[in-house]
Amino acid sequence: MARIAVGGIHHETNTFAPASHKADLDDYLKGGAYPALSRGPVMFDAVDGMNLTVSGFFDEARARGHEVVPLLWCHATPSAHTTERAFETIAGWLFDDLAAAGPVDALFLDLHGAMVTEHFDDGDGELLRRARAAVGDRMAVVSSVDFHAIVTPAMMENATALHALRTYPHVDRAETGRRAARHLHDLVRDDRAPFRAWRKIPFIISAPCQCTLAEPTRSIMAILDDLEGGDVESLSFTPGFPSADVHDLGPTVFGYGRDRAAVEAAVAALAEEVEGREAEFAGAWLSAEDGVRRAMQTAARASGPVILADTQDNPGGGGTSDTTGLLKALVEQGATDAVLAMMFDGDAARRAHEAGEGAEIELALGGRSGIPGDAPFPARFTVERLGDGNFESHGPMMAGMTYHLGPMALLGTGGVRVVVSGTKAQALDQGILRHLGVDPAAQKIIGLKSSVHFRADFAEMASDILVVLAPGTVIADTSLKDYRKLRPGVRLAPLGPVSGGG
Ligand SMILES: [Zn+2]
Repeated sequence: MARIAVGGIHHETNTFAPASHKADLDDYLKGGAYPALSRGPVMFDAVDGMNLTVSGFFDEARARGHEVVPLLWCHATPSAHTTERAFETIAGWLFDDLAAAGPVDALFLDLHGAMVTEHFDDGDGELLRRARAAVGDRMAVVSSVDFHAIVTPAMMENATALHALRTYPHVDRAETGRRAARHLHDLVRDDRAPFRAWRKIPFIISAPCQCTLAEPTRSIMAILDDLEGGDVESLSFTPGFPSADVHDLGPTVFGYGRDRAAVEAAVAALAEEVEGREAEFAGAWLSAEDGVRRAMQTAARASGPVILADTQDNPGGGGTSDTTGLLKALVEQGATDAVLAMMFDGDAARRAHEAGEGAEIELALGGRSGIPGDAPFPARFTVERLGDGNFESHGPMMAGMTYHLGPMALLGTGGVRVVVSGTKAQALDQGILRHLGVDPAAQKIIGLKSSVHFRADFAEMASDILVVLAPGTVIADTSLKDYRKLRPGVRLAPLGPVSGGG
Protein backbone atom coordinates (compact mmCIF):
# COMPACT_ATOMS: atom_id res chain seq x y z
CA MET A 1 0.00 0.00 0.00
CA ALA A 2 1.27 3.45 -0.89
CA ARG A 3 0.40 6.85 0.45
CA ILE A 4 -0.46 9.03 -2.58
CA ALA A 5 -0.93 12.79 -2.41
CA VAL A 6 -3.52 14.10 -4.88
CA GLY A 7 -4.02 17.61 -6.22
CA GLY A 8 -5.44 19.36 -9.26
CA ILE A 9 -5.46 22.78 -10.88
CA HIS A 10 -7.32 23.19 -14.17
CA HIS A 11 -7.30 26.00 -16.65
CA GLU A 12 -7.41 26.13 -20.42
CA THR A 13 -6.07 29.51 -21.46
CA ASN A 14 -7.13 31.38 -24.60
CA THR A 15 -4.37 33.95 -24.97
CA PHE A 16 -6.45 35.71 -27.66
CA ALA A 17 -9.38 36.35 -25.28
CA PRO A 18 -9.85 39.91 -23.97
CA ALA A 19 -7.65 40.78 -20.97
CA SER A 20 -10.85 41.70 -19.11
CA HIS A 21 -11.67 37.97 -19.09
CA LYS A 22 -8.66 36.61 -17.15
CA ALA A 23 -8.96 33.80 -14.59
CA ASP A 24 -8.38 35.38 -11.20
CA LEU A 25 -8.42 33.80 -7.76
CA ASP A 26 -12.17 34.24 -7.43
CA ASP A 27 -12.79 32.29 -10.66
CA TYR A 28 -10.90 29.33 -9.17
CA LEU A 29 -12.61 29.68 -5.79
CA LYS A 30 -16.06 29.53 -7.43
CA GLY A 31 -15.28 26.99 -10.17
CA GLY A 32 -17.97 28.17 -12.64
CA ALA A 33 -19.86 25.11 -13.90
CA TYR A 34 -17.38 22.84 -12.06
CA PRO A 35 -17.00 22.28 -8.30
CA ALA A 36 -15.68 25.17 -6.25
CA LEU A 37 -12.08 25.02 -5.00
CA SER A 38 -11.77 22.37 -2.31
CA ARG A 39 -8.88 21.75 0.04
CA GLY A 40 -8.24 18.77 2.29
CA PRO A 41 -10.76 16.00 2.98
CA VAL A 42 -13.75 18.03 1.65
CA MET A 43 -12.26 17.27 -1.76
CA PHE A 44 -13.67 13.73 -1.54
CA ASP A 45 -17.26 14.96 -1.35
CA ALA A 46 -16.67 17.80 -3.82
CA VAL A 47 -15.71 15.45 -6.67
CA ASP A 48 -17.35 12.19 -5.61
CA GLY A 49 -19.14 10.28 -8.39
CA MET A 50 -18.33 12.86 -11.05
CA ASN A 51 -16.88 12.36 -14.47
CA LEU A 52 -13.65 14.06 -13.41
CA THR A 53 -10.17 12.61 -13.66
CA VAL A 54 -9.54 13.10 -9.97
CA SER A 55 -12.80 11.25 -9.14
CA GLY A 56 -11.75 8.21 -11.16
CA PHE A 57 -8.27 8.35 -9.65
CA PHE A 58 -9.60 8.31 -6.09
CA ASP A 59 -11.86 5.33 -6.85
CA GLU A 60 -9.19 3.21 -8.49
CA ALA A 61 -6.36 4.07 -6.10
CA ARG A 62 -8.52 3.22 -3.09
CA ALA A 63 -9.81 0.03 -4.73
CA ARG A 64 -6.15 -1.03 -5.01
CA GLY A 65 -5.62 -0.48 -1.31
CA HIS A 66 -3.73 2.81 -1.40
CA GLU A 67 -4.19 5.68 0.99
CA VAL A 68 -5.03 8.87 -0.89
CA VAL A 69 -4.18 12.21 0.70
CA PRO A 70 -6.33 15.01 -0.76
CA LEU A 71 -4.44 18.30 -1.12
CA LEU A 72 -6.43 20.71 -3.28
CA TRP A 73 -8.56 20.65 -6.44
CA CYS A 74 -9.87 23.56 -8.49
CA HIS A 75 -10.97 24.59 -11.95
CA ALA A 76 -11.54 27.96 -13.57
CA THR A 77 -13.66 28.39 -16.70
CA PRO A 78 -11.47 28.71 -19.80
CA SER A 79 -10.60 32.35 -20.42
CA ALA A 80 -7.68 34.68 -20.97
CA HIS A 81 -4.56 34.21 -18.81
CA THR A 82 -4.58 32.92 -15.27
CA THR A 83 -3.44 35.81 -13.14
CA GLU A 84 -0.10 35.67 -11.34
CA ARG A 85 -1.97 36.21 -8.08
CA ALA A 86 -4.28 33.23 -8.68
CA PHE A 87 -1.45 30.92 -9.78
CA GLU A 88 0.94 31.80 -6.96
CA THR A 89 -1.78 31.69 -4.29
CA ILE A 90 -3.17 28.32 -5.35
CA ALA A 91 0.22 26.76 -6.11
CA GLY A 92 1.34 28.04 -2.71
CA TRP A 93 -1.57 26.29 -1.00
CA LEU A 94 -0.98 23.10 -2.98
CA PHE A 95 2.69 22.77 -2.10
CA ASP A 96 2.18 23.93 1.50
CA ASP A 97 -0.42 21.20 1.88
CA LEU A 98 1.92 18.67 0.27
CA ALA A 99 4.66 19.61 2.73
CA ALA A 100 2.20 19.38 5.64
CA ALA A 101 0.92 15.97 4.52
CA GLY A 102 4.03 14.24 5.85
CA PRO A 103 5.83 11.44 4.02
CA VAL A 104 4.12 10.27 0.85
CA ASP A 105 5.16 7.64 -1.69
CA ALA A 106 3.79 9.26 -4.83
CA LEU A 107 2.03 12.33 -6.16
CA PHE A 108 -0.88 12.50 -8.61
CA LEU A 109 -1.83 15.80 -10.25
CA ASP A 110 -5.02 16.32 -12.26
CA LEU A 111 -3.98 19.05 -14.73
CA HIS A 112 -5.34 20.44 -17.97
CA GLY A 113 -2.04 21.00 -19.78
CA ALA A 114 -2.87 24.28 -21.59
CA MET A 115 -2.61 26.80 -18.77
CA VAL A 116 -0.88 30.09 -19.58
CA THR A 117 -0.40 32.52 -16.71
CA GLU A 118 0.55 36.18 -16.71
CA HIS A 119 4.09 35.15 -15.81
CA PHE A 120 4.52 31.59 -17.24
CA ASP A 121 3.67 30.53 -20.80
CA ASP A 122 3.79 26.92 -19.60
CA GLY A 123 1.78 27.00 -16.36
CA ASP A 124 1.43 23.22 -16.13
CA GLY A 125 5.13 22.71 -16.81
CA GLU A 126 5.87 25.13 -13.98
CA LEU A 127 3.56 23.22 -11.62
CA LEU A 128 5.26 19.95 -12.50
CA ARG A 129 8.70 21.56 -12.11
CA ARG A 130 7.75 22.70 -8.60
CA ALA A 131 6.25 19.29 -7.84
CA ARG A 132 9.46 17.56 -8.89
CA ALA A 133 11.53 19.99 -6.83
CA ALA A 134 9.31 19.30 -3.82
CA VAL A 135 9.44 15.49 -3.94
CA GLY A 136 12.89 14.87 -5.37
CA ASP A 137 14.09 12.91 -8.38
CA ARG A 138 12.98 9.43 -7.43
CA MET A 139 9.33 9.77 -6.46
CA ALA A 140 6.62 8.91 -8.99
CA VAL A 141 4.76 12.03 -10.10
CA VAL A 142 1.93 11.02 -12.42
CA SER A 143 -0.39 13.54 -14.01
CA SER A 144 -3.49 13.40 -16.14
CA VAL A 145 -3.93 15.98 -18.88
CA ASP A 146 -6.75 17.06 -21.16
CA PHE A 147 -7.11 16.01 -24.81
CA HIS A 148 -6.25 19.68 -25.52
CA ALA A 149 -3.03 19.67 -23.52
CA ILE A 150 -0.06 21.43 -25.10
CA VAL A 151 2.71 19.09 -24.06
CA THR A 152 6.04 20.79 -23.33
CA PRO A 153 9.59 19.70 -22.45
CA ALA A 154 9.05 20.83 -18.83
CA MET A 155 5.95 18.65 -18.54
CA MET A 156 7.69 15.61 -20.04
CA GLU A 157 10.87 16.01 -18.01
CA ASN A 158 9.27 16.55 -14.63
CA ALA A 159 6.41 14.05 -14.75
CA THR A 160 7.16 10.37 -14.37
CA ALA A 161 4.17 9.81 -16.66
CA LEU A 162 1.38 11.85 -18.24
CA HIS A 163 -1.95 10.29 -19.19
CA ALA A 164 -4.21 12.16 -21.62
CA LEU A 165 -7.94 11.94 -22.18
CA ARG A 166 -8.86 9.93 -25.28
CA THR A 167 -12.20 11.45 -26.19
CA TYR A 168 -13.49 14.78 -27.49
CA PRO A 169 -16.29 15.30 -26.33
CA HIS A 170 -14.51 14.44 -23.08
CA VAL A 171 -16.62 11.56 -21.80
CA ASP A 172 -13.64 9.58 -20.42
CA ARG A 173 -12.31 11.84 -17.68
CA ALA A 174 -13.02 9.44 -14.81
CA GLU A 175 -11.73 6.53 -16.89
CA THR A 176 -8.49 8.43 -17.56
CA GLY A 177 -8.10 8.92 -13.81
CA ARG A 178 -8.55 5.19 -13.27
CA ARG A 179 -6.00 4.42 -16.00
CA ALA A 180 -3.48 6.80 -14.41
CA ALA A 181 -4.07 5.17 -11.02
CA ARG A 182 -3.42 1.69 -12.44
CA HIS A 183 -0.16 2.89 -14.00
CA LEU A 184 0.92 4.63 -10.81
CA HIS A 185 0.10 1.46 -8.87
CA ASP A 186 2.44 -0.55 -11.13
CA LEU A 187 5.23 2.03 -10.92
CA VAL A 188 5.10 2.21 -7.11
CA ARG A 189 4.86 -1.55 -6.73
CA ASP A 190 7.89 -2.15 -8.96
CA ASP A 191 9.73 0.93 -7.68
CA ARG A 192 10.72 2.01 -11.17
CA ALA A 193 10.39 4.86 -13.65
CA PRO A 194 9.18 3.99 -17.15
CA PHE A 195 11.00 4.78 -20.39
CA ARG A 196 9.34 7.59 -22.32
CA ALA A 197 9.21 8.89 -25.89
CA TRP A 198 7.43 11.83 -27.44
CA ARG A 199 7.07 13.65 -30.71
CA LYS A 200 5.54 16.98 -31.69
CA ILE A 201 3.37 17.05 -34.83
CA PRO A 202 4.29 19.98 -37.14
CA PHE A 203 0.81 21.39 -37.85
CA ILE A 204 -2.00 22.93 -35.83
CA ILE A 205 -5.45 21.32 -35.74
CA SER A 206 -8.52 23.49 -35.13
CA ALA A 207 -10.73 22.30 -32.28
CA PRO A 208 -13.84 21.46 -34.36
CA CYS A 209 -11.61 19.16 -36.46
CA GLN A 210 -10.32 17.16 -33.49
CA CYS A 211 -13.57 15.39 -32.59
CA THR A 212 -13.01 11.70 -31.79
CA LEU A 213 -16.48 10.80 -33.09
CA ALA A 214 -15.34 11.77 -36.60
CA GLU A 215 -12.49 10.97 -38.95
CA PRO A 216 -9.58 11.08 -38.97
CA THR A 217 -9.32 11.21 -35.17
CA ARG A 218 -11.70 8.29 -34.62
CA SER A 219 -9.47 5.82 -36.44
CA ILE A 220 -6.28 7.38 -35.04
CA MET A 221 -7.56 6.65 -31.53
CA ALA A 222 -8.37 3.07 -32.58
CA ILE A 223 -4.78 2.66 -33.81
CA LEU A 224 -3.53 4.09 -30.51
CA ASP A 225 -5.49 1.36 -28.74
CA ASP A 226 -3.91 -1.31 -30.93
CA LEU A 227 -0.36 -0.01 -30.39
CA GLU A 228 -0.75 0.13 -26.60
CA GLY A 229 -0.15 -3.00 -24.54
CA GLY A 230 2.69 -5.32 -23.57
CA ASP A 231 5.84 -3.28 -23.07
CA VAL A 232 4.01 -0.11 -24.13
CA GLU A 233 2.19 0.76 -20.92
CA SER A 234 0.59 3.98 -22.07
CA LEU A 235 0.22 5.91 -25.30
CA SER A 236 -1.40 9.33 -25.77
CA PHE A 237 -2.32 11.71 -28.57
CA THR A 238 -3.12 15.31 -27.62
CA PRO A 239 -4.16 17.54 -30.55
CA GLY A 240 -3.60 20.62 -28.37
CA PHE A 241 -5.47 23.83 -27.72
CA PRO A 242 -5.01 26.12 -30.74
CA SER A 243 -6.07 29.34 -28.94
CA ALA A 244 -2.98 29.39 -26.73
CA ASP A 245 -0.16 31.28 -28.44
CA VAL A 246 2.84 29.54 -26.90
CA HIS A 247 6.11 28.10 -28.16
CA ASP A 248 5.09 24.45 -27.93
CA LEU A 249 1.57 24.74 -29.36
CA GLY A 250 0.52 21.84 -31.53
CA PRO A 251 -0.37 18.18 -31.31
CA THR A 252 1.84 15.70 -29.46
CA VAL A 253 2.18 11.94 -29.38
CA PHE A 254 3.81 10.45 -26.27
CA GLY A 255 4.13 7.16 -24.50
CA TYR A 256 5.67 5.22 -21.62
CA GLY A 257 6.71 1.65 -21.08
CA ARG A 258 9.05 -1.01 -19.85
CA ASP A 259 11.10 -1.23 -23.03
CA ARG A 260 12.65 1.81 -24.62
CA ALA A 261 12.65 0.53 -28.19
CA ALA A 262 9.02 -0.59 -27.97
CA VAL A 263 7.86 2.80 -26.67
CA GLU A 264 9.84 4.68 -29.29
CA ALA A 265 8.44 2.48 -32.06
CA ALA A 266 4.84 2.93 -30.88
CA VAL A 267 5.19 6.72 -30.62
CA ALA A 268 6.78 6.88 -34.07
CA ALA A 269 4.06 4.71 -35.62
CA LEU A 270 1.24 6.78 -34.12
CA ALA A 271 2.90 10.11 -35.02
CA GLU A 272 3.38 8.94 -38.61
CA GLU A 273 -0.30 7.97 -38.76
CA VAL A 274 -1.33 11.46 -37.59
CA GLU A 275 1.07 13.17 -40.00
CA GLY A 276 -0.06 10.98 -42.89
CA ARG A 277 -3.64 12.15 -42.45
CA GLU A 278 -2.92 15.87 -42.25
CA ALA A 279 -5.26 16.86 -45.11
CA GLU A 280 -8.22 15.18 -43.37
CA PHE A 281 -7.94 17.59 -40.41
CA ALA A 282 -8.94 20.57 -42.58
CA GLY A 283 -12.00 22.50 -41.41
CA ALA A 284 -15.47 22.73 -42.97
CA TRP A 285 -17.56 25.67 -41.78
CA LEU A 286 -20.11 28.27 -42.87
CA SER A 287 -20.81 31.89 -42.08
CA ALA A 288 -23.56 32.38 -39.48
CA GLU A 289 -25.86 33.73 -42.23
CA ASP A 290 -25.31 30.77 -44.56
CA GLY A 291 -25.61 28.35 -41.64
CA VAL A 292 -28.98 29.78 -40.59
CA ARG A 293 -30.22 29.72 -44.20
CA ARG A 294 -29.25 26.10 -44.63
CA ALA A 295 -30.66 25.16 -41.21
CA MET A 296 -34.03 26.72 -42.07
CA GLN A 297 -34.18 24.78 -45.34
CA THR A 298 -33.27 21.50 -43.67
CA ALA A 299 -35.49 22.08 -40.64
CA ALA A 300 -38.53 22.57 -42.91
CA ARG A 301 -38.40 18.91 -43.95
CA ALA A 302 -36.41 17.17 -41.21
CA SER A 303 -37.69 15.57 -38.04
CA GLY A 304 -34.97 16.53 -35.54
CA PRO A 305 -33.41 19.94 -34.87
CA VAL A 306 -30.56 21.30 -36.93
CA ILE A 307 -27.73 22.28 -34.60
CA LEU A 308 -25.58 25.32 -35.31
CA ALA A 309 -22.31 25.21 -33.40
CA ASP A 310 -21.32 28.83 -32.65
CA THR A 311 -17.76 27.61 -32.29
CA GLN A 312 -15.93 30.95 -32.21
CA ASP A 313 -17.77 31.97 -29.03
CA ASN A 314 -17.38 28.67 -27.20
CA PRO A 315 -16.69 29.53 -23.55
CA GLY A 316 -15.09 26.08 -23.24
CA GLY A 317 -12.37 27.45 -25.51
CA GLY A 318 -12.11 30.78 -23.73
CA GLY A 319 -14.88 32.51 -25.70
CA THR A 320 -16.66 35.38 -23.98
CA SER A 321 -20.00 33.61 -24.55
CA ASP A 322 -21.74 36.91 -25.25
CA THR A 323 -21.29 37.48 -28.96
CA THR A 324 -24.45 38.14 -30.93
CA GLY A 325 -23.63 37.23 -34.56
CA LEU A 326 -25.61 33.99 -34.60
CA LEU A 327 -28.54 35.55 -32.71
CA LYS A 328 -28.65 38.38 -35.24
CA ALA A 329 -28.60 35.97 -38.19
CA LEU A 330 -31.45 33.91 -36.68
CA VAL A 331 -33.66 36.92 -35.96
CA GLU A 332 -32.94 38.74 -39.23
CA GLN A 333 -33.74 35.67 -41.31
CA GLY A 334 -36.98 35.07 -39.40
CA ALA A 335 -36.07 31.67 -37.97
CA THR A 336 -38.85 30.07 -35.91
CA ASP A 337 -38.78 27.42 -33.20
CA ALA A 338 -35.15 28.38 -32.73
CA VAL A 339 -33.27 28.58 -29.44
CA LEU A 340 -29.74 29.82 -28.70
CA ALA A 341 -27.74 28.83 -25.62
CA MET A 342 -26.13 30.33 -23.73
CA MET A 343 -25.72 34.10 -23.66
CA PHE A 344 -23.51 35.32 -20.78
CA ASP A 345 -25.20 38.54 -19.66
CA GLY A 346 -25.76 38.85 -15.92
CA ASP A 347 -27.38 42.24 -16.29
CA ALA A 348 -30.02 40.88 -18.68
CA ALA A 349 -30.69 37.90 -16.40
CA ARG A 350 -31.14 40.23 -13.43
CA ARG A 351 -33.49 42.54 -15.34
CA ALA A 352 -35.56 39.58 -16.51
CA HIS A 353 -35.94 38.40 -12.91
CA GLU A 354 -36.95 41.89 -11.78
CA ALA A 355 -39.56 42.12 -14.56
CA GLY A 356 -40.99 38.62 -14.00
CA GLU A 357 -42.30 35.90 -16.32
CA GLY A 358 -44.56 37.22 -19.07
CA ALA A 359 -43.14 40.73 -18.93
CA GLU A 360 -41.67 42.51 -21.92
CA ILE A 361 -38.32 44.24 -21.61
CA GLU A 362 -36.16 46.33 -23.91
CA LEU A 363 -32.58 45.09 -23.86
CA ALA A 364 -29.32 45.48 -25.69
CA LEU A 365 -28.33 41.85 -25.17
CA GLY A 366 -24.72 40.61 -24.99
CA GLY A 367 -21.99 41.96 -27.24
CA ARG A 368 -20.08 43.76 -24.51
CA SER A 369 -16.61 42.25 -24.89
CA GLY A 370 -15.28 44.65 -27.49
CA ILE A 371 -14.77 41.96 -30.12
CA PRO A 372 -14.32 43.41 -33.62
CA GLY A 373 -17.48 42.91 -35.68
CA ASP A 374 -19.62 42.20 -32.62
CA ALA A 375 -22.10 44.48 -30.81
CA PRO A 376 -25.00 44.27 -28.33
CA PHE A 377 -28.26 43.04 -29.90
CA PRO A 378 -31.09 45.49 -29.17
CA ALA A 379 -34.66 44.13 -29.17
CA ARG A 380 -37.88 43.90 -27.22
CA PHE A 381 -37.84 40.52 -25.47
CA THR A 382 -40.57 38.57 -23.72
CA VAL A 383 -39.45 36.98 -20.44
CA GLU A 384 -40.71 33.49 -21.20
CA ARG A 385 -39.24 31.60 -18.29
CA LEU A 386 -37.03 32.21 -15.26
CA GLY A 387 -34.74 29.76 -13.48
CA ASP A 388 -32.46 29.75 -10.45
CA GLY A 389 -29.67 28.01 -12.36
CA ASN A 390 -29.63 24.94 -10.11
CA PHE A 391 -30.16 21.74 -12.07
CA GLU A 392 -28.72 18.29 -12.58
CA SER A 393 -26.77 17.13 -15.59
CA HIS A 394 -27.82 13.86 -17.21
CA GLY A 395 -25.60 14.18 -20.30
CA PRO A 396 -22.65 11.82 -20.84
CA MET A 397 -19.96 14.42 -20.09
CA MET A 398 -21.18 16.03 -16.90
CA ALA A 399 -23.40 13.25 -15.56
CA GLY A 400 -23.75 13.35 -11.80
CA MET A 401 -22.89 17.02 -11.56
CA THR A 402 -25.23 19.74 -10.36
CA TYR A 403 -25.00 23.09 -12.08
CA HIS A 404 -25.19 26.24 -9.96
CA LEU A 405 -25.33 29.03 -12.53
CA GLY A 406 -27.34 31.63 -10.62
CA PRO A 407 -30.33 33.47 -12.11
CA MET A 408 -31.16 32.37 -15.66
CA ALA A 409 -33.82 33.49 -18.12
CA LEU A 410 -35.38 32.42 -21.40
CA LEU A 411 -35.96 35.52 -23.49
CA GLY A 412 -37.98 35.43 -26.71
CA THR A 413 -38.04 37.76 -29.69
CA GLY A 414 -39.93 36.73 -32.83
CA GLY A 415 -39.46 33.00 -33.30
CA VAL A 416 -36.09 32.97 -31.53
CA ARG A 417 -35.48 32.33 -27.86
CA VAL A 418 -32.22 32.92 -26.00
CA VAL A 419 -31.02 31.24 -22.82
CA VAL A 420 -29.38 33.95 -20.72
CA SER A 421 -27.13 33.35 -17.73
CA GLY A 422 -24.95 35.38 -15.41
CA THR A 423 -22.38 32.55 -15.24
CA LYS A 424 -20.34 31.44 -18.22
CA ALA A 425 -20.77 27.77 -19.05
CA GLN A 426 -20.51 25.82 -22.27
CA ALA A 427 -23.85 24.77 -23.78
CA LEU A 428 -23.01 21.08 -23.87
CA ASP A 429 -25.77 19.58 -21.76
CA GLN A 430 -29.49 19.37 -22.51
CA GLY A 431 -30.14 20.32 -18.88
CA ILE A 432 -29.32 23.94 -19.73
CA LEU A 433 -32.40 24.05 -22.00
CA ARG A 434 -34.64 21.77 -19.95
CA HIS A 435 -34.08 23.90 -16.85
CA LEU A 436 -36.02 26.66 -18.63
CA GLY A 437 -38.75 24.38 -19.95
CA VAL A 438 -37.31 23.96 -23.46
CA ASP A 439 -37.59 20.47 -24.95
CA PRO A 440 -34.50 20.29 -27.22
CA ALA A 441 -35.92 17.62 -29.55
CA ALA A 442 -39.01 19.77 -30.26
CA GLN A 443 -36.93 22.65 -31.69
CA LYS A 444 -36.25 23.25 -35.37
CA ILE A 445 -32.92 25.00 -34.82
CA ILE A 446 -30.64 24.96 -31.79
CA GLY A 447 -27.67 27.32 -31.69
CA LEU A 448 -25.05 26.26 -29.14
CA LYS A 449 -21.96 28.12 -27.98
CA SER A 450 -19.83 24.99 -28.14
CA SER A 451 -17.36 23.49 -30.61
CA VAL A 452 -17.55 19.72 -30.12
CA HIS A 453 -18.60 18.82 -26.54
CA PHE A 454 -22.31 19.35 -27.32
CA ARG A 455 -22.19 16.33 -29.62
CA ALA A 456 -22.13 13.97 -26.63
CA ASP A 457 -25.64 14.99 -25.55
CA PHE A 458 -27.18 16.49 -28.71
CA ALA A 459 -25.86 14.58 -31.75
CA GLU A 460 -28.36 11.77 -31.50
CA MET A 461 -31.44 14.00 -31.88
CA ALA A 462 -29.93 16.26 -34.56
CA SER A 463 -31.03 16.05 -38.18
CA ASP A 464 -27.88 17.96 -39.11
CA ILE A 465 -24.96 19.70 -37.38
CA LEU A 466 -23.31 22.74 -38.95
CA VAL A 467 -20.28 24.59 -37.59
CA VAL A 468 -20.82 28.32 -38.13
CA LEU A 469 -18.44 31.25 -37.76
CA ALA A 470 -19.62 34.50 -36.17
CA PRO A 471 -17.21 37.07 -34.68
CA GLY A 472 -15.66 35.67 -31.49
CA THR A 473 -12.34 35.05 -29.76
CA VAL A 474 -11.98 31.35 -30.59
CA ILE A 475 -10.88 31.75 -34.21
CA ALA A 476 -11.60 28.45 -35.95
CA ASP A 477 -9.38 28.97 -38.98
CA THR A 478 -6.02 28.75 -37.24
CA SER A 479 -4.18 30.09 -40.30
CA LEU A 480 -5.82 33.47 -39.54
CA LYS A 481 -4.60 33.62 -35.95
CA ASP A 482 -1.88 36.08 -35.12
CA TYR A 483 0.54 33.68 -33.45
CA ARG A 484 3.61 35.46 -32.09
CA LYS A 485 5.29 32.84 -29.90
CA LEU A 486 5.01 29.70 -31.95
CA ARG A 487 8.30 27.96 -32.72
CA PRO A 488 9.44 28.19 -36.36
CA GLY A 489 8.41 25.63 -38.93
CA VAL A 490 4.92 24.73 -37.68
CA ARG A 491 2.10 24.81 -40.25
CA LEU A 492 -0.62 27.14 -38.93
CA ALA A 493 -3.34 24.82 -40.28
CA PRO A 494 -3.29 21.43 -41.99
CA LEU A 495 -1.25 21.90 -45.21
CA GLY A 496 -1.30 25.62 -44.35
CA PRO A 497 1.33 28.37 -44.20
CA VAL A 498 4.40 27.89 -41.98
CA SER A 499 5.11 29.94 -38.85
CA GLY A 500 8.19 32.11 -38.95
CA GLY A 501 8.82 31.80 -35.25
CA GLY A 502 9.62 34.67 -32.98
ZN1 LIG B 1 -10.48 19.87 -23.59
